[in-house]
Amino acid sequence: MQDVAIVGGGLCGLALAYRLQTQGIDYALYEARGRLGGRILGARSVLNGAALDLGPTWFWPQAEPHMRYWVAELGLDFFPQHDTGTVMELQVAQAAPLTRLAPGLHGGAQRLAGGMAALVEALTARVDAGRIRLDHALTAVLERDDHVELYFEAQGESIVRTARRVVVALPSRLADEHVRFSPDLPPELRAAMRSTPTWMGAMAKVVVAYSAAFWREHGHSGNAFVTHDKALLTEVWDACGKEGSGAALGGFLALPLPDAGELPALIHDQLAELFGTQTQDSEMHIQDWLHEAYTTSALDRAQPMVRPEELGDARLAAVYWNGRLLLGGTETAPHGGHMEGALAAAARIEAQLLEAQGAARSDAKMALEDFAPWVAQQRSRAFAAYEGQLKQALSGHRSQDLTRHCLLATVQGLYGESLAYLQTLGFPQQPTSGTDGTALTRAALAAFEGFNEELLGQALAFNRTSCAMSNFPDEHQPGADYLNLIRADLRDAWRRFAFDVHDFLTEG
Ligand SMILES: Cc1cc2nc3c(=O)[nH]c(=O)nc-3n(C[C@H](O)[C@H](O)[C@H](O)COP(=O)(O)OP(=O)(O)OC[C@H]3O[C@@H](n4cnc5c(N)ncnc54)[C@H](O)[C@@H]3O)c2cc1C
Repeated sequence: MQDVAIVGGGLCGLALAYRLQTQGIDYALYEARGRLGGRILGARSVLNGAALDLGPTWFWPQAEPHMRYWVAELGLDFFPQHDTGTVMELQVAQAAPLTRLAPGLHGGAQRLAGGMAALVEALTARVDAGRIRLDHALTAVLERDDHVELYFEAQGESIVRTARRVVVALPSRLADEHVRFSPDLPPELRAAMRSTPTWMGAMAKVVVAYSAAFWREHGHSGNAFVTHDKALLTEVWDACGKEGSGAALGGFLALPLPDAGELPALIHDQLAELFGTQTQDSEMHIQDWLHEAYTTSALDRAQPMVRPEELGDARLAAVYWNGRLLLGGTETAPHGGHMEGALAAAARIEAQLLEAQGAARSDAKMALEDFAPWVAQQRSRAFAAYEGQLKQALSGHRSQDLTRHCLLATVQGLYGESLAYLQTLGFPQQPTSGTDGTALTRAALAAFEGFNEELLGQALAFNRTSCAMSNFPDEHQPGADYLNLIRADLRDAWRRFAFDVHDFLTEG
């Protein structure tokens, strides 16, 4: 009998599997589809070799510490979403589109080189293949005295497996509709599961690969919005690979979709309306998530509306059946929906599992042993992150407060990522209060000693010798007032981080 059965091999289940493996916990991962990744799905263009995202495309490292942490941990390469050039707006069918400039339209969104599937591939390569069971669709979970019984449909056969604990890492509505729980779940949990829509479940996406990015050649960013009532493509963006390799456009499709036979021609027509007729070779990939049985529930098809505040009901994150049943998936994370939510849920479950089995390190100080070397590694990468911020700010035509903005974004990113990492280290959940709590906070924060000044020094030295920065005298040779402002920002970010660390270590 396995210690932990993880059901659902999406990002949440996979990240959790990897973490349990590194903690030496015995687990098996069951997945209904014949592939891992769930809503993360990629395709490789035959035409130009581009990695195409048919599920998620973007992440926002500044606001998503778990994503940032995992991208660094797995050594993945990333690049900014291409937003340079005009944005098209088509408000009236068959009229000429309006154009406008909107640099940074995607708010600092980044994409993974190799597509979002690279995240799944990197995780899959790290988890023990012998622990993964594909084509296992969970149909029932029964609580027994000291374990759970799991019923799966596996290629036409009914299979029973046992485990001490189970993590059901599926979209909450799907688990509610497809899985029988015995004894039944509390009514308030059932209600929370039903009132939590599946993020992007009611969605269809298209990615079209081309032999060249003809829109870029005409000064268009590839971004477009179509708002008239005959719109088929509602939103379009540039989906080329890193540095423009592998030309492609991506788009969201309005539902319900027209007949599959007509769809490609209608999509080409609308793209031609936006960007002009193009006669190049192209290759189209359409992904209809609305009809994916292992993503979207019947209730999602009837009530698809989703806002982040509709997700993350606290009842979904609680532990049931004396610690034998936990629910996962991005839908269980506060303000979930994005991949960040799936990873936050995995971190929460890991801590709950460790706590429940008493494997949490009894002495919280021991948990910090991994923290200082990890922070040292992040510190060594901070200057490169500053350079990346600067590059992004300059390509977004920012000219005001460049150093200040980029340093603040860099330290906030590192602090957010550090807090997310700290939360994965398996601290006991009992609060460590009083002087012990303060000592623990001090020990955790010691790893950041002198960080702000060190990074500021590196940034100023770089600015002094950088050609690009010589165009901005205030940044090239900053005056005392400007330096004071920068230091005040960095101090504030540090204070907020120190409070958050203290709250986490003392309140659990
Ligand atoms: C079109 C689209 C665009 C998106 N864009 C973005 C974006 O740009 N940025 C972003 O951050 N997020 C985006 N998202 C959201 C992102 O994809 C999700 O947050 C994330 O992938 C969810 O991971 P998960 O593990 O929580 O769930 P899932 O990926 O849904 O994983 C659940 C897994 O459970 C499996 N499963 C289902 N039923 C059973 C069963 N009965 N038994 C066993 N296994 C089962 C499924 O096959 C699946 O593998 C997008 C999603 C879509 C669909």
